[in-house]
Amino acid sequence: MSVLKKSEKLIDRLPMVRGRYTAFAPLGDTSWFRAGGCAEVLYKPADKEDLCDFLKACPTDVPITVLGVCSNVIIRDGGIAGVVIKMGRGFTDIEQEGTSTLYAGAAALDANVAISAQNFGIGGLEFFSGIPGTIGGALRMNAGAYGTETADVLVQADVIDRQGQIHHIKANDPQMQMSYRHNSLPEAMIFVGGYFKGVIEDAGLIESRILEIKEKRAATQPIKARTGGSTFANPTPQELAAAGLPEDKKTWQLIDAVGGRGFVLGGAQMSEKHCNFMINTGEATAHDLEMLGEEMKGRVFEKFGVNLRWEIRRIGQAKAIGLGDVMGEC
Ligand SMILES: Cc1cc2nc3c(=O)[nH]c(=O)nc-3n(C[C@H](O)[C@H](O)[C@H](O)COP(=O)(O)OP(=O)(O)OC[C@H]3O[C@@H](n4cnc5c(N)ncnc54)[C@H](O)[C@@H]3O)c2cc1C
Repeated sequence: MSVLKKSEKLIDRLPMVRGRYTAFAPLGDTSWFRAGGCAEVLYKPADKEDLCDFLKACPTDVPITVLGVCSNVIIRDGGIAGVVIKMGRGFTDIEQEGTSTLYAGAAALDANVAISAQNFGIGGLEFFSGIPGTIGGALRMNAGAYGTETADVLVQADVIDRQGQIHHIKANDPQMQMSYRHNSLPEAMIFVGGYFKGVIEDAGLIESRILEIKEKRAATQPIKARTGGSTFANPTPQELAAAGLPEDKKTWQLIDAVGGRGFVLGGAQMSEKHCNFMINTGEATAHDLEMLGEEMKGRVFEKFGVNLRWEIRRIGQAKAIGLGDVMGEC
């Protein structure tokens, strides 16, 4: 049976929804890296109720992957089997709750949350202005910058489980432990929104801090390139101590020291501007990007004995074993 027939059959097995299904929807082109394969079936739910109904009725053997705007993922060239859920309108609300709290839907862009917070006179959420993802991605990755992370401002996350049940999980709930770029809530849980708390502040002051963040980013990161942000997390102080390195050593310094800055592999390159960022110089495949990361990991381990941890999520299958022969159809 061809993969195309198999996938049409997958759509046939999926429940009726008010949202939209697309077979073999290109994903790579919509990712920040502009590389990688397609979704076997892409599902864009109309709203929360539609998503709940889908999950209640979706056969349990169908793999489900949730994506935001793909600013922290390499989607492998063979694509993603099963259903990929991308939330859009219906999940982008940003509303003030009381005086210093706001609600944001999972598909709201972090940058829009920062601007809305400024308009509401809520200070402390400016760090979102420099993170080019969605609130769903920020909750999953515990995104942060310049000393503040999502966990610091989170009051409650609204999630839907694989059975289509909604849960309201408080920030201090033990099942949701958030640490550096990590949230311990099971991967099967889908974030649909969250409540975030700041402090009442003058909108002008908030605006000036947002501008400062933007300037800092433009000066230090390749924000206009096809990139995925920091490739590897910084090593922990314990990992650095075990390797006999000072506890303030950063990943970019280790990569720099092994000749990584500007290093090219296929169409992928370690950024000259920030050498923990990979960039697609034009024709990079997801494989090029992943191999470039592995090359840096290998060199750093060989020279320093530090095992770098991928911060970028690598999702899907290599071309040889993935949706393979239908890639041309994407
Ligand atoms: C130029 C650049 C600069 C960056 N700077 C920073 C930075 O300063 N700080 C920082 O923390 N990050 C940074 N990043 C990385 C990235 O923007 C963040 O991790 C962001 O939070 C990812 O959001 P996203 O919507 O793009 O998620 P995606 O990349 O689409 O997904 C990331 C992960 O989250 C999961 N996910 C997404 N949405 C949901 C959901 N609704 N429910 C459950 N799981 C979900 C996905 O399955 C995946 O595992 C940067 C990236 C770029 C390209």
